[in-house]
Amino acid sequence: MENWNLRRRAAVLLGILLLDAAMFGTAMGVMRAETSSEEVRAAGVQEMVPETADAPSFVALTFDDGPDPVCTPKLLDGLKERGVHATFFLMGQSIPGNEALVLRMKEEGHLIGNHSYRHIQLTKAREDSVCEAVEQTEELIASITGERPQYLRPPYGDWNENLECRMNLTTVFWSVDSLDWKLQHTSRIVRRLEQSVGPGDIILMHDIFPTSVEAALQIVDSLQAKGYRFVTVDELLVD
Ligand SMILES: [Zn+2]
Repeated sequence: MENWNLRRRAAVLLGILLLDAAMFGTAMGVMRAETSSEEVRAAGVQEMVPETADAPSFVALTFDDGPDPVCTPKLLDGLKERGVHATFFLMGQSIPGNEALVLRMKEEGHLIGNHSYRHIQLTKAREDSVCEAVEQTEELIASITGERPQYLRPPYGDWNENLECRMNLTTVFWSVDSLDWKLQHTSRIVRRLEQSVGPGDIILMHDIFPTSVEAALQIVDSLQAKGYRFVTVDELLVD
């Protein structure tokens, strides 16, 4: 009995590691900072995109650090108008008082992920406090939406495999960093994205700056005009 349990647990862990390995390849490229998106795409996600000539190109917009009472509603309005679903990695400490926004995300078809409770580097914290911060955010979101998020984006993309085995969540990084937090300038963010986004990319943005919201909506318009289709990260990873 004990043996069987152990074996089963090993199989589950292997499954999670395999899933993460697929994404980690992409993410590691990004974490080496200035790697070009071409290199990153070559390393991973692009292989999952259909290659036929008339297949649409898929891309995923992801927003970290929210919800924000001012910026997030504007973003949700704009995405709804355009029929676009995005992925929101929520920070636990920003949720109290913004429960209606979290519910709205779910009702409008967006994917909700976990961005831990506070914006700390998880590899620098004690493992049990990391688990607690992630779990607290899981519970907060589930108490609003009725569903525990299955995807985790660690703050700063800071993660390692030792933390992996403690969590039954799939870690999602990104392949294009908009640098929206640094630029805080709509047209510069748009220009950067127009130059770097390709099929299969996961775009990192933050729905806590007005310039990010404006840039996100502009890039949706411009990429939709080029035939891109916006999906949530789970859809992108399945496709
Ligand atoms: Zn963040």
